[in-house]
Amino acid sequence: MKTLDRWNLIATWKMSLGGVRRASRLLGDGKSLEEAVTEAVKTVEDEAAYCSVGYGGLPNRNGELEMDAAYMDGDTLKAGGVMAVRDIRNPVAVACALSKYERNCFLAGEGAMVFARQHQFAFRNMLTPAAREKFRKATAKAGGPACRDAYDGHDTVCVIGRDQQGSMACGVSTSGLFLKHPGRVGDSPVIGSGFYADSCAGAAAATGVGEDIMRGCLSHAIVERMADGCPAQEACERVLTGHIAKLRRIGGSCGSMSVIAMDREGGIGAATNLKLFPFVVGNMAGECRMMAVKQADGRMEIIEPDEEEWKKYEVD
Ligand code: ASP
Repeated sequence: MKTLDRWNLIATWKMSLGGVRRASRLLGDGKSLEEAVTEAVKTVEDEAAYCSVGYGGLPNRNGELEMDAAYMDGDTLKAGGVMAVRDIRNPVAVACALSKYERNCFLAGEGAMVFARQHQFAFRNMLTPAAREKFRKATAKAGGPACRDAYDGHDTVCVIGRDQQGSMACGVSTSGLFLKHPGRVGDSPVIGSGFYADSCAGAAAATGVGEDIMRGCLSHAIVERMADGCPAQEACERVLTGHIAKLRRIGGSCGSMSVIAMDREGGIGAATNLKLFPFVVGNMAGECRMMAVKQADGRMEIIEPDEEEWKKYEVD
């Protein structure tokens, strides 16, 4: 197991690079951790080219884009989330606002959208022509949306941040599984499954098939390991491989699952059951790097591919 440097930010997939760059600059400029983490997620939500998060995200079976997002403050353990919301420009911003309340912090569907309207959050039509075309092609091929199962091609942007004082926070956002059932909620806005942050222990977040991630409450399980003194990388590997082994033993389904974590000292970790899972790290000095976990037979290796090598990997 490789020991990694200390970082202030870790985020899922290559798509988070621009957001992590922005967040590392914000932290370097003395902006708050909350601003840095939410701005990183918002950067991905606003980019139409990333087709699994926010604007341009993946439609459900009705051809509508329903999004899930969450935010958690690791100092207060306060968290907020929105589930199955439509046409909110930045779902993570609404989730962050909800995290300030004592009650009614997780809102679904219409209720969440009413809250967002009442609090003047921006709305826009989030369904792009490219997403509509993807929906048309996928459903035409399969003989209609009802004939298709939700399939791979989904991803979540998860951003974990840690400031100079050691405060930690986490933000996540996704459109969930392509062609999912209307109203379906994945792990992403479910506290302890898709995300968890505790400044006294560490923070973790997950991406992949939400139903399988939720069965193991993976993010909380990783943070608990770190609370016991386990380094982030070891915590990610042990929790993920243990969960996968259990699912196999009991004959359950086991879709793609990837996790990231940061311990309270800024040590990072990542694990996956994919062959390769890219992630991005950043620090307050503005340094950002793309890394990946390479996985074979449950053994993980953290790699730092150069530009040429990245081109070989057909991943987001
Ligand atoms: N975890 C997300 C969901 O199940 C999708 C993903 O991260 O790939 O909605």
